[in-house]
Amino acid sequence: MNSLRTSQYNLRRREQRARESLDERFQRRSARNAADRLRRARARSDQQMANRVNSQAETNVSEHDCGLMTEICNFCQALYWRNELNSSNKYTKCCHDGKVRLPNLAETPDLLKELLTNNSLEARNYQNHIREYNAALAFASMGAEVKSPPGNGPYCFRIHGQIYHRIAPLYSNERFKPGYGQLYIFDASEANSRRLENNPSCLSSVMKLDALLRTINPYAKSYLQMHHLIQSNPTVNVKMIFMEHPDLDMRRYNAPTSRTEVAAIFVGDDGEPPANRDICIYPIGEGCKNISPLNQCNDPMVYPLLFPRGEQGWSNEMEHVEERRSAKRNRVTHLQFYAYRLSVRSGFSLLHSSGKLFQQYVVDAYVKTEGSRLNYIRLNQKDLRVEFYRGLLDALTTRASNNNLRVGKLVILPSSFQGSPRSMQQNYQDAMAMVRKFGRPDLFVTFTCNPSWPEILNAMQGRERPENRPDIVVRVFKMKLSELLDDLIKRKVFGCVTSYIYVIEF
Ligand SMILES: [Zn+2]
Repeated sequence: MNSLRTSQYNLRRREQRARESLDERFQRRSARNAADRLRRARARSDQQMANRVNSQAETNVSEHDCGLMTEICNFCQALYWRNELNSSNKYTKCCHDGKVRLPNLAETPDLLKELLTNNSLEARNYQNHIREYNAALAFASMGAEVKSPPGNGPYCFRIHGQIYHRIAPLYSNERFKPGYGQLYIFDASEANSRRLENNPSCLSSVMKLDALLRTINPYAKSYLQMHHLIQSNPTVNVKMIFMEHPDLDMRRYNAPTSRTEVAAIFVGDDGEPPANRDICIYPIGEGCKNISPLNQCNDPMVYPLLFPRGEQGWSNEMEHVEERRSAKRNRVTHLQFYAYRLSVRSGFSLLHSSGKLFQQYVVDAYVKTEGSRLNYIRLNQKDLRVEFYRGLLDALTTRASNNNLRVGKLVILPSSFQGSPRSMQQNYQDAMAMVRKFGRPDLFVTFTCNPSWPEILNAMQGRERPENRPDIVVRVFKMKLSELLDDLIKRKVFGCVTSYIYVIEF
């Protein structure tokens, strides 16, 4: 049937051509030749493009490699990858170009090092349940709504909402079971049996950590000392202050009866102990009290297994190194403090090796840092030119008076605060404006992080796993992302880029 149709068509065409004039034949042939030329040119360019893509993608392009962490910060000896140089050819993420200098954390006790690096039954139990062990041995509790992500992925410490750090009085009452710092006044075996009751997945053989903390931790010593004082003077009032500043001038207040490295214990009613932000422990009280995240005792009291010798956390009195500070900003911020602590330096690091507890510490540090930024905004509304929002304020007052409500103190969160609803809204509007000007995007590229990238695996020490080292994972991801953007924008792999938008999710 088909062959019949083809032969009929050929017959018709032959008849047509026999009828056409010389001119018509010339036109037909030149049109055909032009079409042929175009087709050949297209085929040639397609082939060239295919060759180019093949040669780049398959054979000639080697996998991007950041190498090893061999670069060292001259000021604080933090380790870096070469690609982490900033635009002024410096490494500044660790100590802010030499401005921040913190005392080194003390040598890790052998027992903790063994538990984190060995493969024995005890060590594995400790590594799996390190957060329970820490909670059992802590002096202050950390409360947050823990919401693990769904699915069967590796462990991820994720919280929702606010974090509270709470501290209990020295003695428990009938309503509350003894816990946290209170346990250090019991003898070791009783304290441990109570801890195991509260944390059934812990092993009693690992609870020798209690003995370790009693010998080296100044907070444990302070609790015990206060208990002994009360035993010897049962009738007088005793209170203990964890001092914000160890060099506090005690003559302004009544001289403490007893003083340890971190605490002053006051006996008697006369005189006021230093007030405001210091943590005060009374013998008996109503339940737990919140302690400020701005207090330098916060970290060592919540994380005794990360800071077994009670090394102090951030305090608002920390100043930049004198010879490198600038005239205006000379205090160490929360962000700078944690950036210094989280920087990788050579040698064994108790902090970085502590797995799930390290994750918790990082989350806690982030919440504290964001909290202090929010606090700044709350206290500096004038500098943020809130008067520009006058119209908004008027609208709110009118609405409130219509509904018979009272307007509270208004705090404006500027759109420059990353992650705030207004920042999201602004970025979204910007992105849409770009789409309207430049048209719909030609490329939609998704770039994911691979925890098995050799750079990440090479940076793991001992029994560390990538899921427990979010600091390393994000640094490698950032380097690879910058390289991808350079490929697209500077090296024009897909041609000239007129506009681009990107967002990082994690
Ligand atoms: Zn440094």
